[in-house]
Amino acid sequence: MAGPVSVVAEPVRLQLKWRHQFQFAGYYMAEHLGFYRDRGLEVQFLEGGPAVDTIAAVVSGGAHFGVAASDLLLARQQAPVVALAPIFQHSPYVLLTLDEVSSPARLARASVMLDTGAAEIRALFQRLGIAATALEVRDYHDAVAALLAGEVEAIAAYSTTEPYWLRRAGVEPRMLSARDHGIDLYGDMLFTSAALVRDRPQLVRDFVAASLAGWEAALRDPEQAIALILAEYNTQGFDADFYRFEARETRRLIQPEVIELGHVNPSRWQHIAGVYAALGMLPEDVSLDGFVYAPEIRNIDPRVVLALTGALLVAALLALLSWRVHSLNRQLRSEIAQRKADHRRLAESEALHRLLTENSGDVIWMLDLERWRFDYVSPSVQRLRGFTPEEVMAQPIDASLTATSAARLRRRLEEGVQRLADGDSEGLFALTEIEQPCKDGTTVRTEVVTSLLLDASGRPAKVLGITRDITARKTLEARLRSRAVAIEAAADAVVITDPEGYLLYANPAFTRQTGYRLERGERLHMRVLKSGQHDRAFYDAMWQTIRAGRVWRGELVNRRRDGECYEEEMTISPVLNEHDEIERFIAIKRDISTQRAMERALRAANQRLRENLEKIGALQRELAEQAMRDPLTGLYNRRYLDDALGRELARMDRECATLVVLMVDIDHFKRINDGWGHPAGDRVLSALAEILRECFREFDLICRYGGEEFLIVLPNTDLEQGRVRAETLRRRVGAQSFDLDEGGSSITLSIGVAAFPRLAADQETLIAQADAALYRAKHGGRDRVEVAVPASDHLAG
Ligand code: GH3
Ligand code: MG
Ligand code: MG
Repeated sequence: MAGPVSVVAEPVRLQLKWRHQFQFAGYYMAEHLGFYRDRGLEVQFLEGGPAVDTIAAVVSGGAHFGVAASDLLLARQQAPVVALAPIFQHSPYVLLTLDEVSSPARLARASVMLDTGAAEIRALFQRLGIAATALEVRDYHDAVAALLAGEVEAIAAYSTTEPYWLRRAGVEPRMLSARDHGIDLYGDMLFTSAALVRDRPQLVRDFVAASLAGWEAALRDPEQAIALILAEYNTQGFDADFYRFEARETRRLIQPEVIELGHVNPSRWQHIAGVYAALGMLPEDVSLDGFVYAPEIRNIDPRVVLALTGALLVAALLALLSWRVHSLNRQLRSEIAQRKADHRRLAESEALHRLLTENSGDVIWMLDLERWRFDYVSPSVQRLRGFTPEEVMAQPIDASLTATSAARLRRRLEEGVQRLADGDSEGLFALTEIEQPCKDGTTVRTEVVTSLLLDASGRPAKVLGITRDITARKTLEARLRSRAVAIEAAADAVVITDPEGYLLYANPAFTRQTGYRLERGERLHMRVLKSGQHDRAFYDAMWQTIRAGRVWRGELVNRRRDGECYEEEMTISPVLNEHDEIERFIAIKRDISTQRAMERALRAANQRLRENLEKIGALQRELAEQAMRDPLTGLYNRRYLDDALGRELARMDRECATLVVLMVDIDHFKRINDGWGHPAGDRVLSALAEILRECFREFDLICRYGGEEFLIVLPNTDLEQGRVRAETLRRRVGAQSFDLDEGGSSITLSIGVAAFPRLAADQETLIAQADAALYRAKHGGRDRVEVAVPASDHLAG
């Protein structure tokens, strides 16, 4: 009945879908472990690549078997192919993006690099409501580099490959999988031509079985598979790290824990056909007949079956008899050995239990439910409550608990018994928190795990309990709880991030401050708050500080979710683990925009106030100046002089110095007014004032005393000096041409000079004497200087 035994192995070629890598580990292992050879197959692997069409290779007979993806179903419209066994239960195709491009709205505007095979990515776009025409699709070439360089914003990729290279380049890609949107295609599968299935069914069966066994081996021991690839198939020159990543990700797609290797689910194929139909790549309701491989069961001749059955029956009876004798003997031997082993195990187990109960920090006890008394209490009870086990066992159980705890424990146990009676085995165990009195009068908080032990009839007879001191834990919990409450209620935003800056926790104040909320399952990086108002060096310095394990404190401008910028005061503290590695960062952030705006407003208001005060001061000074000056000439007015002269005289008195006054009057000034008009007269007065300022010293006081009369006070000057200076003035003015008509005109002055204290000891007399001298000058013919004379002379004169 046996078939011909092949002595020469049959050559079989397998066309791989891509270049050698872990993607094909199962086939390498099948070859390496001799699974193919055991079935008389000599398998040769044909390496794939961008230019290789696996389906064409198989259909043309270049290879017996091939590896293809779900698009095999498309090829089948033209070529008779059969899907033998899906290896990857799910497609590895994903869409990779950097940053936040992954929302459909953003993607619709993104430039995307797709390869021709990525049907599910196209289907994904369709499902996201993005029209194929909206996409800016680029030729697939150096996708990872293009994504990194920002030439495209999304690439179709294999979850088993490209994420690794991106991470190695220091970026964490965002992955968008069609599967998450209900589009679930098979990944790599083994296929062959319909002709081979028809003509060589055994070869196909053998090849599939050996390949699946190889895959099982590769998944069981990926390290061995990786070593094999590195040694024999590393045409791409990758390292073990890469293959390990690929192995891990591949396993996710194969899901060996969940689905039997190579298992085909026809309804999956219907779903896949539907996806292609929706994309217009397949007609609706395409038949899958003959496409999904079903190994045929060989038809056996009924006569052969009859003959075989008779022979088998006789042989079976004989075999049964001898087996029975043999097995009785064996059973006896094995039972003896078993008993010995059981005994040994029991002794070991007892010793182990004693060791555990007597040395455990927890108190282990056994309670008899009927007597409601302890059968056993472990020695650690003394550490917990101060009582010895003997003392505890001598007491009724209620003495070991506070009244409420006793009631609670009893209730829990009764509940358990009841549940058990109702057929609920969960009733066997219970966890109860209780309080227990200690020998020193205090109470201790404990947690009791109880399990009911059943007697031979299945009724609960005893309770095995483990009591643990939870005082410290409770205190810690309470402290943590109050801290958590405080943080939740804090006015300042508090966030905890991982060392990369991804948010792990944020309190409500953070959401109020920024508008961001950490949604479950979402990753949020703190960089979303960047406002763009600080340069790279600013952030570099910050990261450098906190990565060095130091606290960073500072102010910065951040941007809320709604786009508005705000000022923030932030403190970031690194949290180190026991190996001094940074485990978390905790940041406390305060929005100081309002505070800063108020400060700025206050500063501006202060500035305005200061300016106004300065203006007021200047105005006041101007007013005061105006009050003492004559508006036409700018010289001191008479009122000022009256005060100032008084002060000067007092000073001269103190210093025993002398002072001279000059009383100056323009001669025949009326004529000027009459001849050239009043404004011309004004101009003369101004010009004269200018000359006076030039002729006298800075500390001399020059005053417009009346209409065209001037009084000049010369401190520290004697009469003679005064006279000389009056004479100088007179000459100077007489020589000056005043701008009255084309030719100019001149004026003359009459000046009376008086001195203090020589002839006049007070202000009034001094002025009167100067006046008198002026009067004499006028009468003496004008254009002259007259000096005051003693009163006697005056009288005499
Ligand atoms: P003299 O002093 O030589 O006796 O003759 P006078 O013409 O100067 O006579 P007096 O001193 O009596 O008159 C002063 C004149 O000066 C009177 C007035 O019209 C004129 N005067 C007084 N104040 C001003 C002024 O502010 N502007 C002008 N244009 N004229 C003034
Ligand atoms: Mg006059
Ligand atoms: Mg005059």
